Amino acid sequence: MTARAEDLVLLCSLVGSDVVRVIDPMRGWPGLVEVRVGEEWQCFSMHVGRIHSMSRREHEYRFQNALGHEMTVLPDSRPLLLGLWCEPGERPVIVAAQPESRLAATTRFSVLLPESLFREAQRCGWATPYANRVNGVLWGFVPELLPSFVELYTDGVAEAVATSSVQLAVLGAGLVSQASPEAGERARQATTRLKRDAVFGGMIVRLYGGQCAMCGLNLNLVSGAHILPVSAPASRDIPENGICLCDNHHRAFDRHHIWINPGSHEVRINPAVVELAAANPRSAAFLAQTYSVIRAPADPMVRPSAEMFAARYAYFDDEYEWAG
Ligand SMILES: [Zn+2]
Repeated sequence: MTARAEDLVLLCSLVGSDVVRVIDPMRGWPGLVEVRVGEEWQCFSMHVGRIHSMSRREHEYRFQNALGHEMTVLPDSRPLLLGLWCEPGERPVIVAAQPESRLAATTRFSVLLPESLFREAQRCGWATPYANRVNGVLWGFVPELLPSFVELYTDGVAEAVATSSVQLAVLGAGLVSQASPEAGERARQATTRLKRDAVFGGMIVRLYGGQCAMCGLNLNLVSGAHILPVSAPASRDIPENGICLCDNHHRAFDRHHIWINPGSHEVRINPAVVELAAANPRSAAFLAQTYSVIRAPADPMVRPSAEMFAARYAYFDDEYEWAG
């Protein structure tokens, strides 16, 4: 077995046999592997390089391609380009690079990364993505989260999900304090929920042209809110259950200060909040700029549905007494 193939097998063993299996290590550039995402096994052409320090600059590290062998995408698989940091006495870390732009390269290339990327991953399980002009975006994470990265990346939301949200999920799953298969599974399930939110949010924001349905603010300060929340068993990630809101209106909606008429989409604000706002010109201005009717897409197939609002008000039974 080549050294690359040995690194690939080592990386997969660190991830865990419950979520990754080596179909054929080949020469390790690539090797054919399957990764379990949720209940489904997906096939990948995995390319692995060891992360080394660069002698010419302190705190700079890199991994390199296999000289003379271009990256190859085997039939019915997708490419992965991964660096492995694995030193005695330290928690191992995987660094994932965007493979697409490098598929044709046959000459030597280096993926450069700062030490802080894998140190943060060791501390928090998942690191703030590192981006520069040469490399594109790099992600660092503990091996148990390779399926999470695969899931976020293939759904196009690896950059949309907030680092702090993933880190909180990993912390909550207990994967920071102990590397166990159970903690890994909990962390992966939590990131799957974050992915669902990001995919749903992205869809809703696009449908609303990036503008808040209650005030028109854009500037990428909006997100997709569920009308019937994710915590409700009947909640679904469909356009009719979404509304695009700026952060302030999203929070006000979540706190049940705002009631929307299921049929006419008229906006009503809790009179107690209106009274409080009267004492503060800024708050009063915020309420004054709130539309009297939400601005939703014209297409009835993607507009918020009366059923979803009715289900919300039934689910939060006591919260909307003020709306009558
Ligand atoms: Zn708004």
